[in-house]
Amino acid sequence: MSNTDEHEACCRLPAVALACPVCGKQGRRVGKETLDHHLEQSSRAKFGDEAGFCPNPACEVVYFSGKATVRKGETVLAVTQKDPGDEIFVCYCFEHTRGDLRRDLAQKGTTDIPERIKKGIKEGRCDCERKNPQGACCLGNVIAAIIGIKAS
Ligand SMILES: [Zn+2]
Repeated sequence: MSNTDEHEACCRLPAVALACPVCGKQGRRVGKETLDHHLEQSSRAKFGDEAGFCPNPACEVVYFSGKATVRKGETVLAVTQKDPGDEIFVCYCFEHTRGDLRRDLAQKGTTDIPERIKKGIKEGRCDCERKNPQGACCLGNVIAAIIGIKAS
């Protein structure tokens, strides 16, 4: 094995450890705060202080660790990436739904929701690590939802 191969093999390790056991896609790491907020005790007991979050809309898995999984419908709140419904939050900190985006776009052709979220973040009023099922900022999901609605 050349040095290059060794280097690449080493850098691939974290990705393998966080691959969803069902779809194989790369997940993102979430911590205790996220898991505590989004799981009932019976599901929470499957994991330690961290787990992977699978962002693949085509996969039912929300959280995983090793072979243990929590799937769509088993979390306290429905998850943006897993559920296309209009009543589903795209922003959990300020509670904007996909329907709010759709209504803005239908009525005004545009939406100021991303700007309102950015303002809230700037004012330190967001709590993504705890409130968002992915344990991170929602803005990427909000932008993706706007593009999805505009394309539909
Ligand atoms: Zn998956």
